[in-house]
Amino acid sequence: MITLGIEGTAHTLSFGIIQDEKILVNISDQYIPETGGIHPREAVEHHTKCFKPLLIEALKKANLSMKNIDLIAFSQGPGLGPCLRSVAVAARSLSQLLSKDLVGVNHCLAHIEIGRKEIGNHIDPIVLYVSGGNSMVTGFEEGRYRIFGETLDIPIGNLLDTFARHVGLQHPGGPKVEKLAKNGKNFIKLPYVVKGMDLSYSGLLTAANNKFTEGANLNDLCYSLQEVTFSMLTEITERALAHTEKDSILLTGGVAANKRLQEMLKSISEEHNVNFYVVSPKLAGDNGAMIAWTGILQYQHGMKLNLAETKIKAKWRLDEIEIPWITK
Ligand code: AMP
Ligand code: MG
Repeated sequence: MITLGIEGTAHTLSFGIIQDEKILVNISDQYIPETGGIHPREAVEHHTKCFKPLLIEALKKANLSMKNIDLIAFSQGPGLGPCLRSVAVAARSLSQLLSKDLVGVNHCLAHIEIGRKEIGNHIDPIVLYVSGGNSMVTGFEEGRYRIFGETLDIPIGNLLDTFARHVGLQHPGGPKVEKLAKNGKNFIKLPYVVKGMDLSYSGLLTAANNKFTEGANLNDLCYSLQEVTFSMLTEITERALAHTEKDSILLTGGVAANKRLQEMLKSISEEHNVNFYVVSPKLAGDNGAMIAWTGILQYQHGMKLNLAETKIKAKWRLDEIEIPWITK
């Protein structure tokens, strides 16, 4: 069976093609705003313009044509409404025109499942999913991925990108903050806000922005920002691990690339004597292969959609979905 996965929840349009379990192609094109954050209308323009040429390129790379595709999977949510709608319209059109089955995939679930595909599907980890649009600690319990902790306001990637913009660094900010943080020497105190198992970043962002405006050294500030924000994530991950007694941690999402965050999680995994996995960069950020793979799992368990069920779900939560492919 050959599956086409289409990702388009936010800045990235991506196609992945999977034959049985093999990823044949996984290509993306990212909208990068000239100023400010993501402008949904501009992101839609980007996705609409790129859709056909990128799909043609994906098919060409896989040496296939649309008629070889058996199943179409698309990112149905959560994400930016206009972006989700543009991708849903395209996925519906392809499925209707070519009489192909259609499945709608939850973007967060796809990040987790592509990670499990990579590390081994028998592994049942505590997952820290950190990206531009999400920050959550989750794990499988009684038929679903339960969200043990999450941000109450902005996600970590958004914090890093917005801070970077404030201090004059280009998008995406995460890698630039990481680079400058290496030269930081002095710790600058910033608010550490963990509430039970959840965390909050918006006050911390304001505080960091203010410190910069007041003249704090940028290297020191980047270093301190990473130490505080990542310690908060590590704390709630560690507590979820202790509570569930799982035997591994999986780090995924665009922010998973950060070496300091990896180091902190590795240190708690060693303390608890569990395995630590990081999803490889090509599969950790938003991509079409993760949508295709999760679509396959859903399809194998009868979760295909009729047309009326293909409406987008901009606020779709991970813990609403039943996961029949994990049996414990
Ligand atoms: P995603 O939403 O999963 O595509 O991830 C994009 C986010 O990852 C953006 O907010 C980036 O700034 C962030 N990011 C990418 N690389 C790094 C890094 N090395 N350190 C911290 N954040 C990063
Ligand atoms: Mg994502």
